[in-house]
Amino acid sequence: MSETLENLYSETRQFPPPADLAANANVKAEAYEEAASDRLAFWARQAERLTWAKPWNQVLDWSNPPFAKWFVGGELNIAYNCVDRHVEAGLGDKVAIHWEGEPGDTRAVTYAELLKSVSQAANTLTELGVAAGDRVMIYLPMIPEAAVAMLACARIGATHSVVFGGFSVDALATRIEDAAAKVVITADGGYRRGKPSALKPTVDEAVARTGSIEHVLVVRRTGQDVAWTDKDKWWHETVEQADASHVAQPFDSEHPLFILYTSGTTGKPKGILHTTGGYLTQTSYTHHAVFDLKPETDVYWCTADIGWVTGHSYIVYGPLSNGATQVMYEGTPDTPDRGRFWQIVDKYKVSILYTAPTLIRTMMKWGDDIPAKYDLSSLRVLGSVGEPINPEAWMWYREHVGRERAPIVDTWWQTETGAIMISPLPGVTSAKPGSAMTPLPGISADVVDDQAQSVPDGGGGFLVLREPWPSMLRTIWGDDQRFLDTYWSRFGAGSDSSSSDEWIYFAGDGAKKDEDGSLWLLGRVDDVMLVSGHNISTTEVESALVSHPSVAEAAVVGATDPTTGQAIVAFTIPRGNVDTSGDAGEELIKDLRNHVAKTLGPIAKPRQIMLVPELPKTRSGKIMRRLLRDVAENRSLGDVTTLQDSAVMDLISSGMQSGK
Ligand code: ATP
Ligand code: MG
Repeated sequence: MSETLENLYSETRQFPPPADLAANANVKAEAYEEAASDRLAFWARQAERLTWAKPWNQVLDWSNPPFAKWFVGGELNIAYNCVDRHVEAGLGDKVAIHWEGEPGDTRAVTYAELLKSVSQAANTLTELGVAAGDRVMIYLPMIPEAAVAMLACARIGATHSVVFGGFSVDALATRIEDAAAKVVITADGGYRRGKPSALKPTVDEAVARTGSIEHVLVVRRTGQDVAWTDKDKWWHETVEQADASHVAQPFDSEHPLFILYTSGTTGKPKGILHTTGGYLTQTSYTHHAVFDLKPETDVYWCTADIGWVTGHSYIVYGPLSNGATQVMYEGTPDTPDRGRFWQIVDKYKVSILYTAPTLIRTMMKWGDDIPAKYDLSSLRVLGSVGEPINPEAWMWYREHVGRERAPIVDTWWQTETGAIMISPLPGVTSAKPGSAMTPLPGISADVVDDQAQSVPDGGGGFLVLREPWPSMLRTIWGDDQRFLDTYWSRFGAGSDSSSSDEWIYFAGDGAKKDEDGSLWLLGRVDDVMLVSGHNISTTEVESALVSHPSVAEAAVVGATDPTTGQAIVAFTIPRGNVDTSGDAGEELIKDLRNHVAKTLGPIAKPRQIMLVPELPKTRSGKIMRRLLRDVAENRSLGDVTTLQDSAVMDLISSGMQSGK
């Protein structure tokens, strides 16, 4: 981006919160003023949501930027905050997790049962020689043991690193090596798409390839045959037999809690390090504020995988610290049929649903008639995370899932930020379809040009964070230099040319401010296209394509072009009922090119549109544009280790050839 992003799209629809929700909201408009008048005092008040074994003596130590320390001198135990204190408050019989296995088996885990399991797992890990500061890998399906394993590590001060259950040997082995982990917690397998899918063989190979693993704890989930080594121990023969009492020791507020590797959408994954007090403060507060959680009555469901940061912050730490009752689902959304999500909402009377744009667009593709078959009247707040949500997908979510009632919170954040940073508040904000709206109270986000100057309303540029926040990453594990280079060297005090003493965090995302100052995320800065001297965002062109009634999903990249510098190439998935054979396909492509030109202006008209059956996505459902760019420019593919399904790339490449 040489200058700033063009601002092509304008949205006029806006939806105020329902009156009853606004009147009873956990957080009201005053919170913004309170936080603005004294940011650190605001966060100090939010930290009081937690139970501290020893109070802190300083809210923020920023004397060695960009290495932050929050709630300095304070001590607490995260597992105590997420489990024990709810049991002590008399809520032991309350369901913490309504678990739904893919084959239809279920478990209801109460807070008392969770305390028992976490204590037993903590005792077992200690017996296996795991001590505070050691690293433990977690490679599990979406079963309650995943949350138990994370909390047990936190309880004894071990640093966990969760790896998606779908990742390959390579991905797991590099993470084990990078973290120098001592123990892996895994399972024989998990259920996906109606059948058991093995996990243990991947672990066996990764352990054999690396040198640091001493023990492997194996949960029996599917009952499939597993090879056994002398490092292996069954969970049911150790954890479930262990002493159920365990006294949690407090740890320093800056004690390392977990390392989590980013999705790898833009390059080689980074091992993001999060610590204790600030992380739990912000995940707990944002879960309370953004979802308006009423722990006595709400049933909350986040559909993310535990291997993604959303699973960490909004399945485990945020909800459990708030004493929520939640649903956890093991499997895929189309097993046994495409109504599974809605059937789960209906069955458990889910009132808060947090999911991703990729799933919403998939549901759109499958058709309106599917959610229409279920009773979704329990839903009162809907959330979105992971990618910009296209305005038409937002409208579909509102109409067909929220039944024009439930407010939508489009939450922008990253593995690095640890918790939600930019989002509407459901009882305060009049939300616009496709906009993440405004920074939360206590957060200072801005959009700047390449000179780090704040752009005026109506302008576009780089999304930055101007002040440290409690759940910010502390570094990249083992690589302070990459931490400085990636996030802090672009603008402000960390950059070579700057005379400023303000440290500015560079998020890597493009964004714009509309005429009211609301924020619109425009995709990765790496993905911005420079077409005939104009900086055009992939997100805006994709949203224009998705607003066409025949399109379910679209991914757009800039490919080198001899005349325009870069040209827009679009990969488009038609909706289920659309005929794309022969001439009909050609007609649709012509129609789509014109539709984009009409919506955004002729400069945004794609040079080429490919109709494809699928798009390359990460396991967390994000479109991997860098791979499409490799295809569009006939290069060999970059790092594909975090790709969900590698066969998709062959499908697309062959389609690309025939389309020329
Ligand atoms: P890597 O950093 O390795 O490329 P990644 O950025 O995909 O991987 P995550 O931390 O999981 O890994 O994703 C954070 C990114 O997801 C954000 O930087 C942003 O691009 C995108 N994102 C998340 N939520 C939203 C949202 N509500 N609106 C727009 N973009 C979002
Ligand atoms: Mg990133």
